[in-house]
Amino acid sequence: MTTGAPSGEPTDGFVDGLRPVDVLTVVSVADVTPSVRRVTLSGTPSAVAAAGPTVNLLVPRVDDPAPRWPRVAKDGRIVWPEGSHGVALRSYTARRQDPDAGLVEIDFVLHGDGPAAAWAGAAEAGALIAVAGGGALGNRRAAWVLLAGDETALPAISRILAEAPPATAGIALVEVAGHDEEQPLRAPAGVTVRWLHRGGTAPGETTLLTDAVAALDRPAADDVFAWVAAESGAVRTIRADLRGRWGLSRAQHHAIGYWRRGRAMSPAG
Ligand SMILES: Cc1cc2nc3c(=O)[nH]c(=O)nc-3n(C[C@H](O)[C@H](O)[C@H](O)COP(=O)(O)OP(=O)(O)OC[C@H]3O[C@@H](n4cnc5c(N)ncnc54)[C@H](O)[C@@H]3O)c2cc1C
Repeated sequence: MTTGAPSGEPTDGFVDGLRPVDVLTVVSVADVTPSVRRVTLSGTPSAVAAAGPTVNLLVPRVDDPAPRWPRVAKDGRIVWPEGSHGVALRSYTARRQDPDAGLVEIDFVLHGDGPAAAWAGAAEAGALIAVAGGGALGNRRAAWVLLAGDETALPAISRILAEAPPATAGIALVEVAGHDEEQPLRAPAGVTVRWLHRGGTAPGETTLLTDAVAALDRPAADDVFAWVAAESGAVRTIRADLRGRWGLSRAQHHAIGYWRRGRAMSPAG
């Protein structure tokens, strides 16, 4: 068989069981709201297709001019170079992926601290960032859905709502700072979108989301699914509520801490 590669060279990109990460280039940057910056990235169709819905981003430190990217093993493991590398691993969500156009959009919350927020705050056309695989959102279609999250979950919530069958019923609870942080969402007519405003209180320091879920009665429908992503402490409380009071099984909910108050998200960072 003709492979097109010089004899002896691997054709799958792996050398000694490791392949390079996919490096994407910033095409444009736009502020969607005062605290959310949308970064549009370009890459090969296969890199863009692999960059979501959730994506392992390899974020160069803004103060490090020469990041050394890790490589990826055949089982998906990220293998870091020896010594300092100037790259932080963070989880994000592709708000939109268009592999044919080679474009992916990621919405970064500019929360003021941490390598990913700093990178997004400084990003301009031509800057580089890398991806090392992605994963699923963890949602499941159901007749009645509860979606609950803060602004870090908004890209996922927007995808879940946009892809939900038109007959879906339920409620989406989204905690943001205020009215100017709300974003238009395309949702089935039977899903109510309720915005919860934190006002001047810092993210991760309110009980808005947990209280809003606690105030909901378990829906009468049998086919129920709950998807929850926000600050870890809030998610823990909501998960307990949904398992206890609502009696949801593991298959009926996905509740994941997207960030932790006072703690960086990844040991690699
Ligand atoms: C599967 C998944 C998908 C995600 N998708 C997105 C997404 O699409 N967009 C997005 O913006 N985030 C998303 N997140 C959350 C994001 O990974 C975290 O916010 C992460 O901590 C940001 O990294 P950082 O380097 O900016 O800050 P870190 O170095 O991790 O943290 C530095 C400090 O900032 C604080 N901090 C982190 N995030 C926030 C926040 N949102 N508000 C206030 N303080 C914060 C931490 O408590 C810590 O004190 C996702 C997380 C997961 C697990």
